Amino acid sequence: MVSGPVDANQPLIALRGIRKHYGDPASGQPLVTVLHGIDLDIYAGEFVAVVGSSGSGKSTLMNILGCLDRPSDGSYHFQGQDVAQFDSDALAWLRREAFGFVFQGYHLIASESASENVEMPAIYSGLPKEERVQRAQGLLQRLGLGERLGNRPNQLSGGQQQRVSIARALMNGGHIILADEPTGALDSHSGAEVMALLRELAAAGHTIILITHDRDVAAQAQRVIEISDGRVVGDSASQPATAATTATIAQGEGTRMELAPVPQGGSASAAPLVAELLEAARSAWRGMRLNRVRTSLTLLGIVIGVVSVIVMLAIGEGARRKVVEQMGTMGTAILYMGSKPPATGGPAGQITEEDLDALRELPEIRRVMPVIGDPITVRYGNADKQVYVFAASEEMPLVHHWKPKLGRYYTDTEDRDLAPLVVLGHKAHKHFFPDTPNPLGRQLIIGTSAFEVIGVMSERGADSGAQDYDDMVFIPYQSGRARVYQAQTQPDYVVVEAMSSEVVNEAETAIHRVLLARHGGREDFGIGNAAARIQAEAATRQSMAVMLGLIAAVSLVVGGIGVMNVMLMTVRERTREIGIRMAVGARQSDILRQFLTEASLVTLSGGTVGLVVGALVGAVLVLAGVPVVFSIRAMAGAFACAVVTGLVFGYMPAKTAARLDPVRALAGE
Ligand code: ADP
Ligand code: MG
Repeated sequence: MVSGPVDANQPLIALRGIRKHYGDPASGQPLVTVLHGIDLDIYAGEFVAVVGSSGSGKSTLMNILGCLDRPSDGSYHFQGQDVAQFDSDALAWLRREAFGFVFQGYHLIASESASENVEMPAIYSGLPKEERVQRAQGLLQRLGLGERLGNRPNQLSGGQQQRVSIARALMNGGHIILADEPTGALDSHSGAEVMALLRELAAAGHTIILITHDRDVAAQAQRVIEISDGRVVGDSASQPATAATTATIAQGEGTRMELAPVPQGGSASAAPLVAELLEAARSAWRGMRLNRVRTSLTLLGIVIGVVSVIVMLAIGEGARRKVVEQMGTMGTAILYMGSKPPATGGPAGQITEEDLDALRELPEIRRVMPVIGDPITVRYGNADKQVYVFAASEEMPLVHHWKPKLGRYYTDTEDRDLAPLVVLGHKAHKHFFPDTPNPLGRQLIIGTSAFEVIGVMSERGADSGAQDYDDMVFIPYQSGRARVYQAQTQPDYVVVEAMSSEVVNEAETAIHRVLLARHGGREDFGIGNAAARIQAEAATRQSMAVMLGLIAAVSLVVGGIGVMNVMLMTVRERTREIGIRMAVGARQSDILRQFLTEASLVTLSGGTVGLVVGALVGAVLVLAGVPVVFSIRAMAGAFACAVVTGLVFGYMPAKTAARLDPVRALAGE
């Protein structure tokens, strides 16, 4: 390990027997050897030109010198350290702190301004924002681009773009400038300007390695190395320059060109996390804005996923609650029974008190409640109305899971004593006593008899049945038969409550058996199994809710795949940008973080929009009368799922991007 000031007699860069092959005979591609064993020492402060005809291997050599590529064979020592031992983070550190690249094709990031392009290397080295901006603008001003800070590359001429890329190379110090055909794409005037700049930098102490096919350009360097067909064929090898020169352009007066030792296996100079995250979010946001159509399509996928999860779960839950409510009011253990003419002809049977007592004996049965009910004229003062008068035993509130909100219900004893008592439904109360909140003790005339109001039932709300229980009035069964329904010889129907919802079908069979025996084998009665129907409906609704949930989950996954697709496309489209970022010193983790940030930004905004749209759709459904129940849990779950799927599917392309080889990425492969 070398530390402290660099020994002037030790080469900065020492290449021994460097070879580079392309192709792989194993997979059918012919093996091409581009570099045939290069030996080269470059000292700090030298201005070296590597000259050779096109295809002689100059760029390949430069990529190896700049640690953008690894040699197939041979050794590369940087300040005495073997580069082959460096991990990818240490190589990124070298590219960031030691080298500054200037390419023939400029390699600026098209979506960023001149100033932002110049700032980029400092982002990865962790320079605070204000210093970064100040330094970038200072460099651009010195290079004559003070008026062009905010311009994007396509708003600049070739010469200006190349000056931006030189400024970028100087951003982190640019101790060693690697310039590959920097004047190749420029007119002679701009080319001359760029060369003047490089000479000035060399004079200021920067080590310059200039690659060119043009001998006149090469002649401006202090040392010219000629390469042909991957071999060094000439070297003007002058004396090593003195290392103790100062860099005025980039470093300011009096700063010595000294490099810290390469940090090994650690992130000693890792940029502050928050700054990098902010930077990644900023550039992700810019990318999203520049590709509006693509962004909106991805967002649409996520939004649809989130909305469908939220809405479908809300509908499923609404349907489930409705059934549960019905179960609560109608009961899942309720059977109905009444007399009926037999299918074989003849008169309807009689359901007698003895029949009912026999049913009460059955172990499967908890309660047997005969009911008589008809619309009857009911009067209070001047107000009269046809009201359904429901005559049943004191068990009615138990069977219907219903309670009085005012006063009380009558008792069994009162029923047997034929007490003239009445309990009002919620709406019946409103109708007969609109101005009397407490009507207890008032007398209603039902038919021809007076009944005393002793209670008001609580509001039951809309039932699924045709009758509205809130409209009715309730009187005891026996006094009903004695005072109102004198002509009635048997109940209109009988409500039977089974011991539990599990035994309703057994109860039905038992009732059938007992009545058939008591009616001499004639089936002159009918049994309605409402409980079985409700249970079946509950099961259907349950499976519907499960199905809706599945559909919703599928659409979420489809949304996630959409994110992955877009991320893959983004990686492909932006390979060159990834290459540039790596060339200026981004670590693999920086690239990974950037792409993950982009994925999270997309999924977070998609998830948020999804929540809003889901709430809107829900509001429309509520207005349309569809029973929906929104739960915060479902919403949070859908949001979290969207973000997680987006991140999971965004991770793979991000990983791919981070693993890219800098040279290949730069070539846009
Ligand atoms: P120069 O920069 O001197 O023009 P290069 O270093 O770019 O030359 O290329 C040298 C040779 O290596 C060329 O013949 C080129 O075709 C070949 N070459 C460069 N890159 C690859 C690659 N990725 N795969 C195969 N051959 C390559
Ligand atoms: Mg080349």
